[in-house]
Amino acid sequence: MKEGIAADTRVYALLGDPVEHSLSPRFQNAGFTAAAVNGVYVALRCSDGDVAPLMGALARAGGGGNVTLPHKERAARVLDRASEAVRRTGACNTFWGRAGLLHGDNTDVEGFGRALRAFRGGEPRGHRVLLLGAGGAARAVLVALSGAGAAQVVILNRTVERARRLAGEAGGRSVQVVEGPDSLEGEAFDLVVNATRLGLSPDDPHPVDLDRLGSVGAVFDLVYGQAPPPFIAAARERGIPATDGLEMLLQQGAVAFERWWGREAPVEAMRGALHGEREDEA
Ligand code: NAP
Repeated sequence: MKEGIAADTRVYALLGDPVEHSLSPRFQNAGFTAAAVNGVYVALRCSDGDVAPLMGALARAGGGGNVTLPHKERAARVLDRASEAVRRTGACNTFWGRAGLLHGDNTDVEGFGRALRAFRGGEPRGHRVLLLGAGGAARAVLVALSGAGAAQVVILNRTVERARRLAGEAGGRSVQVVEGPDSLEGEAFDLVVNATRLGLSPDDPHPVDLDRLGSVGAVFDLVYGQAPPPFIAAARERGIPATDGLEMLLQQGAVAFERWWGREAPVEAMRGALHGEREDEA
């Protein structure tokens, strides 16, 4: 049993399917211990129909949690109080209770923003960005980039219609959708963000051929795993600074911690647990 669990311990749960490979329990519990808060974090595999009742019950019991694939959109629809990030992305990944109401946020937005600042040493103000993908993660990235003053975001996605929908719903006038990689021949970008699933398996093709683009300032790949994702390795081989999605994972978790406990997250302790986990898996 986790040390210190008692009758008044608050329960936080990751709700999703699958959840068994999630790194969140390890680094959130490390954070709870380091901050000496009376909570425990577990992962619960659950069906679509169980998400709303579990969120309500956990929040009413004084706890909360996170929501992951495939339930983030459903979670957004059952909140009493949705953050602006939830309203703009249509997805909720963090919930908690306050004064009898179910509150929710999408901390992927701020998590990406914090990780990008740490990587680049500043905001992407005025930058031209190529965003690969148009799923839930791309939506959070687009909202973060728009909020941080990116000058233009060009979206490339396998399913063009989905990219158009994303640009229409979460973008603005500075968002452009391209039909395919041919339209990007020789185009220069300050930043390329991979928010597709490509790279989860080492045999995946790269989400875009870097040699067909013009100059690229940096690459941020949301994929994370034991080794650097193959797209990161390709960028580094070409002398392009590149980072994977582990820091974003940590930062979205740190923002969630702050929502639950109303205090700064012990980020170093959480980072230590996360990197320890990666070394254990390697
Ligand atoms: P999602 O909603 O299912 O979207 C998947 C995206 O990948 C879509 O754009 C999809 O294109 C594209 N895609 C999938 N298979 C493809 C293929 N074979 N060829 C080309 N494109 C393909 O998933 P998500 O939640 O956005 O997650 C996307 C990635 O981000 C995952 O790797 C996830 O682990 C990562 N992520 C990381 C963090 C973090 O904290 N680091 C947070 C969230 C997500 P179509 O629209 O054409 O299907």
